[in-house]
Amino acid sequence: MGVFEAMKAEGGHEQVIFCEDSVAGLKAIIAIHDTTLGPALGGCRMWPYETEEEALIDVLRLSRGMTYKAAAAGLNLGGGKAVIIGDPKTQKSEALFRVFGRFVESLNGRYITAEDVNTSVHDMEYIFMETKYVTGVAPAHGGSGDPSPVTAYGVFQGMRAAATAQFGNDDFSGKRVAVQGLGNVGSNLCRHLKEAGASLVVTDIDPERCARARDEFGAEVVDTDEIYDADCDIFSPNALGAVINDETIPRLRCKVVCGGANNQLAEDRHGQVLHERGVLYAPDFVVNAGGLINVYVEMEGYVRERALRMAAGIYANTMNVIEISRERGINTAEAADRFAERRIETIGAVKKGFFGGI
Ligand code: NAD
Repeated sequence: MGVFEAMKAEGGHEQVIFCEDSVAGLKAIIAIHDTTLGPALGGCRMWPYETEEEALIDVLRLSRGMTYKAAAAGLNLGGGKAVIIGDPKTQKSEALFRVFGRFVESLNGRYITAEDVNTSVHDMEYIFMETKYVTGVAPAHGGSGDPSPVTAYGVFQGMRAAATAQFGNDDFSGKRVAVQGLGNVGSNLCRHLKEAGASLVVTDIDPERCARARDEFGAEVVDTDEIYDADCDIFSPNALGAVINDETIPRLRCKVVCGGANNQLAEDRHGQVLHERGVLYAPDFVVNAGGLINVYVEMEGYVRERALRMAAGIYANTMNVIEISRERGINTAEAADRFAERRIETIGAVKKGFFGGI
């Protein structure tokens, strides 16, 4: 498939930039999906893609996803993403990230980069030497630090909204939540749930994390595969993507799915399968936007309270998505897309026209 064809097929991208530097060994692709709402923000992933086509399709899909996430979160950001083709274990260097930073700088703010899979705060520091269009730098440079507490708080707000819509209240004292993954997001989420009075059943591949959840939150610990069969009201994926699939859906005993993991549905059609089974799915990109909100606040001068206040808006965003789903008789995954598209259309129209400024 040609590049223009792929740009069209993957969601109508505005711009794709191919970056190469033989001294640093850089091969990178930056995709800018849509800048209607603002600069395209999205992380820079490093991955040993087998083919250039695979890298291109990945960056096109991921950048489109960022447009939807930012729009649904009510942020003035568009969607973008970058991929560096290479082995993160052997090919990282100061030169690689600095030259990547120079390419980012050349876009003059149309694209803002950040950490992603296989890139770290340390790598962002090198990028920061060449451009200010990078977020997620160290707190010493005005960075926002670990976004996970804000993400977990946002997931909790989305879960409150989903519980209210599904059970008629967000009183967690009588509710049991199954938490898959006790990492940065999952463990912070458990804390909120415990404070709200929920009973927890949890799992992680790391036994130490399970033991900590048992001691700190009084959680029942089950094996990683047993979490799908757990007796619960809410299932919360916070580890991996694609956990909602043909094999797991028939096993779920919950009435709500809501968690921080990205790309929870193995395929789009699984949103419809959950809907038909009466399970309310709180769309992942709506409820896990706290991390993005966090870096957005970093761009304005970081204040954690402001990030948390904005993440509280995830309650209303989730409610809006559920309302669209109910009004139109469509599943919530589709409704979330319509919700994001509606904001892009409306604000795009608001921004039309010349109002002075030359
Ligand atoms: P993390 O690496 O800190 O935690 C993931 C946890 O999942 C680890 O404890 C790991 O041991 C566990 N795990 C891995 N495989 C598992 C399995 N098969 N069963 C059970 N547990 C398993 O990552 P995180 O930062 O907490 O992020 C969790 C998810 O949320 C990821 O999908 C991430 O992309 C997404 N997310 C995170 C943020 C954020 O701010 N950190 C923002 C948006 C989305």
